[in-house]
Amino acid sequence: MDFRLTADQQLLRRSVREFAENEILPHVREWDEAQHFPTELVPRLGELGLLGIQVPDAYGGAAMSALDYCICIEELARVDPGVALSVAAHNGLCTAHILLFGSDAQKQKHLPRLARGEHIGAWGLTESTSGSDAAGMRTAAVRAGACWVLNGTKTFTTHGRVGQVMVVMAVTDKAAGSKGISAFIVEHGTPGMTPGKKEDKLGMRASDTSEVVFDNCRVPADALLGGEGQGFVGAMQVLDAGRIGIAALSVGLAQGAYEAALKYSQHRKAFGKTISAFQAIQWKLADTATRIEAARLLTYRAAYLKDTGASRTTMASSMAKLYASEIAVRAADDGVQIHGGYGFVKDYPAEKFFRDVKLTTIGEGTSEIQRLVIARQLLAR
Ligand SMILES: Cc1cc2nc3c(=O)[nH]c(=O)nc-3n(C[C@H](O)[C@H](O)[C@H](O)COP(=O)(O)OP(=O)(O)OC[C@H]3O[C@@H](n4cnc5c(N)ncnc54)[C@H](O)[C@@H]3O)c2cc1C
Repeated sequence: MDFRLTADQQLLRRSVREFAENEILPHVREWDEAQHFPTELVPRLGELGLLGIQVPDAYGGAAMSALDYCICIEELARVDPGVALSVAAHNGLCTAHILLFGSDAQKQKHLPRLARGEHIGAWGLTESTSGSDAAGMRTAAVRAGACWVLNGTKTFTTHGRVGQVMVVMAVTDKAAGSKGISAFIVEHGTPGMTPGKKEDKLGMRASDTSEVVFDNCRVPADALLGGEGQGFVGAMQVLDAGRIGIAALSVGLAQGAYEAALKYSQHRKAFGKTISAFQAIQWKLADTATRIEAARLLTYRAAYLKDTGASRTTMASSMAKLYASEIAVRAADDGVQIHGGYGFVKDYPAEKFFRDVKLTTIGEGTSEIQRLVIARQLLAR
């Protein structure tokens, strides 16, 4: 067992950190306030390989490992969790679904454009009446000759407005329950597909989130991704890996919140001392740093299992996502507390970490759902 990162991984961390600090940090507040998805950043993300992190060379990707992927997401989240969420959803949901289940023709068509950032990917599972209970979806796809016709509305879709290609889960056989759900690749601009309401969010405001409406949206037969009826099982497999990404995002966000609090505590004076001299503050810092290390290890372990060929990493992914997101919420909360009143205003980053972090215990399965997944795995042993 070797806990050290390789020289290449250390270099990767430094490069992504430098990019995030130089090219993202100066705009964080502006993008958050305007709720602006930074399309201007997309070409740079593409050049750096951050939009095809685990896509093989053959399809124009950076062919990195799951552990490398964690490092990239962590470093982006340390500076701007909203950008990290978009990068994670693009790579870990839409692109990953096509990579895992696409035919060679589908991969040749979509992966190079996604990896270069010419196309931003979206992924639609959630609907207004089915989030945690995703198999209860109502969006339907009906076969009509050589085509499929989609009707329904997806909610909370990351890149629902700014994306160019979307993987959509839809019911193709209602009687078959979750085994009657199929996945489709739909290109934005297809008649009958329109972005719906843009969500006005608490945090992660630089990441685009909206409804996507399908109204007699006709797609060709070759838009079917994976076999008919395999869309739900496929989506669960995509989420196994996606959750490692959200765990990494949580670790990076917690790291950013912690570093901001540490720095502030070494400058702010009260009662004639810097506040870092008070044991109450030191304990918060010590507990946060320890929890972050523990979350990082759980996250890297899940990535390691994926990299070493585990067919499913369900329990390890859910444990990493559950723990990392919950300790990140605590880290962001303690970060605000250490800043006192200055944690409550936008002049310091603590306030934004505090708003952004809540998504990590909700997106890609709430904490309650992670516990349910873990418990099911434990009881099935
Ligand atoms: C910013 C953002 C981006 C997102 N991006 C995407 C995306 O790109 N694609 C996509 O498909 N979805 C996306 N989502 C949706 C997200 O995955 C869902 O919001 C999440 O799965 C929860 O579903 P819900 O909101 O319907 O909550 P609900 O399922 O209604 O849950 C409400 C509460 O009930 C609890 N609960 C539900 N069932 C159980 C149970 N069996 N046991 C115990 N507690 C339970 C939940 O944990 C939660 O606390 C996004 C959401 C947000 C906020």
